[in-house]
Amino acid sequence: MSFNNKTIKTNYHTHMYLCKHAEGTINDYVEEAIKNNFTALGMSDHAPWWGDLKDRSVRMGESDYPIYLKELEDSIRKYSDKIKIYKGLEIEYFKDKEAHYKKLLEEMDYLVLGQHYIEIDNELISVFRIHSVKELTVYKNIVVEAINSGYFKFIAHPDIFLFSRKELNSEILELAEEIIIAAKKKNLPLELNANGIRKGKILVNGEERYRYPRLEFWKLVKKHNASCIISSDAHKPEYLYDEAVKEAIKFSRSLSLKVEEELSFK
Ligand SMILES: [Zn+2]
Ligand SMILES: [Zn+2]
Repeated sequence: MSFNNKTIKTNYHTHMYLCKHAEGTINDYVEEAIKNNFTALGMSDHAPWWGDLKDRSVRMGESDYPIYLKELEDSIRKYSDKIKIYKGLEIEYFKDKEAHYKKLLEEMDYLVLGQHYIEIDNELISVFRIHSVKELTVYKNIVVEAINSGYFKFIAHPDIFLFSRKELNSEILELAEEIIIAAKKKNLPLELNANGIRKGKILVNGEERYRYPRLEFWKLVKKHNASCIISSDAHKPEYLYDEAVKEAIKFSRSLSLKVEEELSFK
């Protein structure tokens, strides 16, 4: 099968109601996946965090975690003859939290790196707000460390650090390239995120483009022939295989990206 011709339907980046900004139970997503002839569905809701992250309104609480686990187990039991369901979480990486990732991996099949914050001078800054070379370098460093940590199955929206950055000079493209090279070395897929497509295009200097996926980043992924994965990043069941996902597949084909259609789990 041609590497740039995604035909297997899978999704490993899926949210549900417990994070408070997605809709639907796990069963709702599983049924939508079955309806679309998916072979595998990975649930990866926003992980609980009992550290310094104050954004409790957009992730499950600590007390929601057992509910998440139970819903996962129930769905796996109910649909085992129809689809493969994997237990995952989307989470940030901070290097002093090793014990936390190890503990989660005792129960989860996988973790997805979703680095939504960076830390500068003991302060957490949203990646949607960073734009200086200094800030973007901090993002690059933490993502490369996360890649090398071995805790993550793939890197969600690796290009999100360019969200607020209009012009990309060679210094910034080099940061992107360092992330791509590190991921390739560890054989970790970089995620082409359909949720960025779902959010629509913006007009910058007379040109329309997505905030993410960022074309310049993905051209570098192609240059290095690094692996990528296409995710819905579904926050509603009907987003699992919607126009945005199909557009992401088209985007990957236009660059002949090396797409991993299925992930393997031990
Ligand atoms: Zn979300
Ligand atoms: Zn997500």
